[in-house]
Amino acid sequence: MNLIKVKVVVILSSLSFLCQSQTNLHFAKINDFYSLINAEIFEQKLFTFNAGKFKFTSLIVETENKSDAEIKIFYKSKIGIETYVTSKIDYNENVDISTYCSKLNVFEEEQSIVKIDFGNFKGKVKIILLYAPKTEIELKNKFYKFSNPCNKPPMISYTEWRKGLPNPKPPRVKTKIEHLVIHHSAGSNNDTDYLNTIRNIYLLHTQSNGWDDIGYNFLIAPDGTIFNGRDPLGAGDDDDILGAHFCSKNQNTMGICLMGNFMTKKPDYRAIYSLKYLLAWKLKKDKLDAFGQTKHPQPDGNMLDNICGHRNGCSTSCPGDSLYLILNNIKFESARIADSCGLKLDFIEPKIVSFVSVFPNPATDKIYFVLKTEKVVILKVLKSNGSLVLHEKIYTEKPLEINLEKGIYFYQLISENKIIEKSKFMIF
Ligand SMILES: [Zn+2]
Repeated sequence: MNLIKVKVVVILSSLSFLCQSQTNLHFAKINDFYSLINAEIFEQKLFTFNAGKFKFTSLIVETENKSDAEIKIFYKSKIGIETYVTSKIDYNENVDISTYCSKLNVFEEEQSIVKIDFGNFKGKVKIILLYAPKTEIELKNKFYKFSNPCNKPPMISYTEWRKGLPNPKPPRVKTKIEHLVIHHSAGSNNDTDYLNTIRNIYLLHTQSNGWDDIGYNFLIAPDGTIFNGRDPLGAGDDDDILGAHFCSKNQNTMGICLMGNFMTKKPDYRAIYSLKYLLAWKLKKDKLDAFGQTKHPQPDGNMLDNICGHRNGCSTSCPGDSLYLILNNIKFESARIADSCGLKLDFIEPKIVSFVSVFPNPATDKIYFVLKTEKVVILKVLKSNGSLVLHEKIYTEKPLEINLEKGIYFYQLISENKIIEKSKFMIF
């Protein structure tokens, strides 16, 4: 590590300015793709540093302490003017729960000035700068209508998109896939250079996180382009390789990341289309039941949906509320596509652990019920004192949204005048 103590560029501002004696700033160029700034933010809001010869194409801020601060990251836009993006300091889902970070900000233009307004944040920060040199590959026409669902969908191979970046490290471990885990990258929805984005995610995972390769098995861009993720390095098929994406419980999982942030915005229909075909192909290949559950071996052996979100494994907002909300629909359609290939998926009742998905549970306000059976079902919701608050028919195609006061509720599913399932949920 080439650690150099450097002078801070002092920016005079009406608010305050950065004082080197207070800051204890270190800049370290680790290699051609990765540099680090360690600094401590005191009273000053605005931090500016000239990285000089080190150009960067993405930046992420890691902090030791939790903060509700929203920081502003300034950058030079395509047309050469200074603009900024805002980012919250949130749990670092990539590394461990004891650190916090901004989102990974990927820039389409090379940058050399680090300028961040830290708002009300105070404390130690690690500013990670990554540089993915531009590479030319033609992404156009890589997205096809997948006419044959029996085949693996076409995708951009790792050797293509990784060109000019350091190679991933061996070894690789094969795992028997039982769970298909859906993620979002939590990055910007305004990125249009998807090749640049995936190259920067790769650098974050391999250089900063120190992983052997990109964490996911597959990534899907908003225009539906699928990228191969982990390079199997000869250890087997890319979909059967153990990744790094699921709360340190990666065994028996395959990770698919949709590029973008889907907390409030739904993914592009083209990305959903590719996701469904990718899932369908894997369901069919490994004879997985789209609506089934399998015991996950680590760490406590809970049952886990065969198709699930990152949030089903640990506390994270991934893959975003909007994407999570349509997951049942995606499962249903993926199963239908897989079915159309000629494989009869087994939907016999004993395999269905529960007839309904209730999420989020506990909830803060809205709670959703999604029916997983073709039976005609009435949903009854009762308060803990036994009084009836809801009596309604529910349908497989449409999640039922319920708004209730805080409390613990009991529900019953009734079909042909018999209770087929009962359980409880909480609104807090
Ligand atoms: Zn995730």
